[in-house]
Amino acid sequence: MRRVLDASALLSGASFDGELFTTPEAVAEVRRYGSTPQLDATLAVKVRVLAPSTEAIGAVDSIARETGDIARLSPTDRGLLALARTLDATLLTDDYSIQNVASLLGIPFERVLERGIREVVHWRYRCAGCGRFFEEPVRECPVCGSEVRTTRARPREASTSRSVHGDSSRRHGPR
Ligand SMILES: [Zn+2]
Repeated sequence: MRRVLDASALLSGASFDGELFTTPEAVAEVRRYGSTPQLDATLAVKVRVLAPSTEAIGAVDSIARETGDIARLSPTDRGLLALARTLDATLLTDDYSIQNVASLLGIPFERVLERGIREVVHWRYRCAGCGRFFEEPVRECPVCGSEVRTTRARPREASTSRSVHGDSSRRHGPR
């Protein structure tokens, strides 16, 4: 999945899945807030910076003019919408005017805050049959073929009670 990140998404510090893009203007906006090593690393490695075509910006502008959102959209906002449209990507933004124009253009969007929260939650996938855990969502256990269920991991639970795993693996004697 492709995602286009606005300045607030870049600044959120949240990690997003998929192919990530942003515009040169959004990067310039973020730079005005200063930079952190984390942000630099994100921009260097994870996020591709692309400029949208003038045609795509034109399409965004004509819709935004109709809705009256054009006055509330900065050139950066329009560029992000245009890039998302060009790439067929989901736009990550908390800006209401951007969201409004995005929905009229058929551009899917996600709110950064919600998205960020969702990323922090650790989901685990556990086989109902053999009890194996998986990092990635799978429907069927590749080991025993049973149904795999999604569970919410509780990281703090483990610190209070220490469980011993694999105590039977060193069993001596004949098999
Ligand atoms: Zn299984």
